[in-house]
Amino acid sequence: MVETTTTIVLYPAPGIGHIISMVQLSKLLLTHHQQQHFSITILLTNGFQDHPSINSYINRISSSHPSIIFHTLPTITVTTTTTTQSMAATAFQFIKSNTVNVESKLRQISLTSVIKSFIIDMFCASAMDIASSMGIPVYCFFTSGAAVLALYSYFPKIHSETTKSFREMNGVEIVAPGNAPLEAVLMPEPVLDREDPAYWEMLYFCEHLSMAKGIVVNTFRELEVKAVKAVEDGDCFPDRKRTLPSIYCIGPLIADAQQSDEASDGKDCLSWLDKQPSKSVVYLCFGSRGSFSIAQLKEIAEGLERSGHRFLWVVKRPIQENHGTNQVDNTTGEFELSSVLPSGFIERTKERGLVVRSWAPQVEVLSRESVGGFVSHCGWNSVLEGVVAGVPMIAWPLYAEQHVNRNVMVEDMKVAVAVEQSEGDRFVSGEEVEKRVRELMESEKGTEIRERSLKFKDMARDAFGECGSSTKALSNLVQTWNEINPL
Ligand code: UDP
Repeated sequence: MVETTTTIVLYPAPGIGHIISMVQLSKLLLTHHQQQHFSITILLTNGFQDHPSINSYINRISSSHPSIIFHTLPTITVTTTTTTQSMAATAFQFIKSNTVNVESKLRQISLTSVIKSFIIDMFCASAMDIASSMGIPVYCFFTSGAAVLALYSYFPKIHSETTKSFREMNGVEIVAPGNAPLEAVLMPEPVLDREDPAYWEMLYFCEHLSMAKGIVVNTFRELEVKAVKAVEDGDCFPDRKRTLPSIYCIGPLIADAQQSDEASDGKDCLSWLDKQPSKSVVYLCFGSRGSFSIAQLKEIAEGLERSGHRFLWVVKRPIQENHGTNQVDNTTGEFELSSVLPSGFIERTKERGLVVRSWAPQVEVLSRESVGGFVSHCGWNSVLEGVVAGVPMIAWPLYAEQHVNRNVMVEDMKVAVAVEQSEGDRFVSGEEVEKRVRELMESEKGTEIRERSLKFKDMARDAFGECGSSTKALSNLVQTWNEINPL
């Protein structure tokens, strides 16, 4: 008798944050549902946002978890139509160009195996139709939290009620179910501007969200109570006549703490942290792409210096503007720290501060006893990593959906204070940096936030306990695969 194999195929969007959470989901499935005997294949795109940290990460996972098969899709080079095309639009164009290769890989796997589930990243909706037409159940994996899911699910309704771009709606607040009010101009970047092709791609994705068999969200129920309820009750799905997709909150999925292969100054920071007093160090890191102008770096340096607190600061290659905060596509180029920081800063603060160039092993950093605060750009992985470590945060959103995450952190979870950013260029002064660092590290409010963060740390651990909410959600998910497609 020929034994039929079963496979789960996962398809992350490009970018380390998206890949890590899909890998963690795969590991969880293999650990908790071994008896299912399915194999796992992860499709990786090639040619866009290939940060050097991705290769070393994939190599590490391949050797520690040989049963996770990585299949790298053929290299695609996107030729942008205009020089002003947004990065999100280019990303969508890139993901769409991969669809034909995704289809042929799915067909190839189907020759020898039953694909029980095709789990696509929220930005890979363009692959949804091909899989559905092959009879493969499609699940959407939402790498952000439930609040962003609620907002995006509601986006088609907001779209239908105005003809303006959010970018032009100064002074208007968007009120979406499960979310705190958000200034329209702070909506997630891809949907800011109707002239941007990314806007229409996001609309397509948001309209298709409810067509997935289920939505898997990297959060846990106790973390985002309001938003999870709004999604589950269907308040945020405009077309409520259609059967709502099932929601599976299976997080927090974060990278394991392990020795990084990255630059040695990244590793040195761990031994430096181990020599600092308990809860004394403020860690500043702005994700894989968060970068500042030299003017903004100067303000941060001044604020840190004046605060008098210990710090570990990851500085990426600065953007070339004179003012403001932003991101760059490629933050990996070589540069000298001394040439981008104020003169004498490193020397003056060397007894209590460490600046790391480009990259630090963040999960390990956050797990260190000496870390007492985290200044974060509010990327969802970073937020979850802070929550899991029980480290209180200072929210400094930069791009993508980070302003939504900021609201959740500050107003719902209450695990962070927010920096005040000037309108327009979102510049943050040195005084403001000093004020927020002191607020978190010295004030009564800071103590309350610290205590709350520690409670969430326990809740995050409990979510994966035997009867934990995320453990249950994962079991339900696997159960539905068996019901849809029993062998
Ligand atoms: N990261 C890291 N060291 C760095 C910068 C980032 O380990 O110096 C990791 C971080 O721990 C997180 C991911 O990169 O897992 C960034 O994902 P996130 O969603 O926070 O932000 P993004 O980079 O997608 O904006």
